[in-house]
Amino acid sequence: MDAIELACKLIEFDTSNPPGNQRECADYIADYLKSFSNVRIYEKDGVRNVLAELTFSRGEPTLAFNGHWDTVPWSPEAWVTHPLKPVIHGGWLYGRGAADMKGGLAALISAFEDVSGLEGLEGKLFLMAVGDEETGGFKGTRHLLSRTGLRPDYVLIGETTDLLLKVGRRGIIQAKLKVYGDEMHSSRVYLSYVSSIEICSELTLLVKRLDPGDAGDIMPRTTFAVTIFEAGVKENVVPRVANMHIDIRNTPKVSSRDVEALLKRELERLKEKYGEFKYELDVREAAKPYIIRDSYFVRVLEDIYRKLGLTPTHDAGGGASDGRFFVEEGVRNVVEVGPIGKNIHGINEKVEAESILQTQRIYREAAIAILRSGGTDFARKSCT
Ligand SMILES: [Zn+2]
Repeated sequence: MDAIELACKLIEFDTSNPPGNQRECADYIADYLKSFSNVRIYEKDGVRNVLAELTFSRGEPTLAFNGHWDTVPWSPEAWVTHPLKPVIHGGWLYGRGAADMKGGLAALISAFEDVSGLEGLEGKLFLMAVGDEETGGFKGTRHLLSRTGLRPDYVLIGETTDLLLKVGRRGIIQAKLKVYGDEMHSSRVYLSYVSSIEICSELTLLVKRLDPGDAGDIMPRTTFAVTIFEAGVKENVVPRVANMHIDIRNTPKVSSRDVEALLKRELERLKEKYGEFKYELDVREAAKPYIIRDSYFVRVLEDIYRKLGLTPTHDAGGGASDGRFFVEEGVRNVVEVGPIGKNIHGINEKVEAESILQTQRIYREAAIAILRSGGTDFARKSCT
């Protein structure tokens, strides 16, 4: 079976998350891998995580391929094709998870299979096929790292990157805000009063424009987006309370303390305009940001790109990924490379079929470059 056929096979399983506890896809992957590698299952609250291992020699170096089998939910109405019936049309493979990330996962598994038959390699190659990525990754990659104690020297994640080298990710900070205003009859708004709805509405527009000036050449600035807004109890009552959730994606230059200070500054300004009001603000870090462009692994992948006639381009946009769990454990050589995809999390999600085979080649070459006998001294010396 080639990587495109394998991607089709994986798309046919409904792995919507939530609920994210379906066993069939993970079991299929485990069975497939068992014929040429050692496979263990690490389950957490019904989420089945597969860890496969190829042992070439004891000890270093260790390289891990990482991909997730869960997808976001789907409803078939708006799709041209059925989300669980993979179709290739005009060079694109359509289906839920085609781009995020059953295409990349199939390429990782196929490259892992390619490498299993090679000689003259040292160390170990792991393949992690995990769940729970779409709901935080704590029952997936995080659980697998905690249970096994595995800290690979190198990590290659197969999320769709349009063949860019993803060398960083912004973090996630979650801010919950409760604003208290005056409750009153809606017919009396000609009187002076403090409106929690007006304050939160204005804040929604203000935070969208907040720019801490931290944009880099490959990483966008820290962004603030209001994603939940709740207020109101009755048609003819101006409500006392308004609740907001602000989803913040931060660069390594902006901490959760900075975010809290910025939001408080805006709230104090709003007090000058609307009058004194009470509020409760809860700011929490949900994922740490990182950017690592100077690792040995980045250079290895750049060389492979040139060898394959591709131009290596760095990128650090988009949302968070499981990459952060490795960075949190001190792994510096973490890179994400994946196929070309469109409409991720949307209708008619698709992945360019040929780019699945291209990434399979990149993964295979990366494993050979890292695990080739004698190829690691340079790695250890140049890792900082
Ligand atoms: Zn993904």
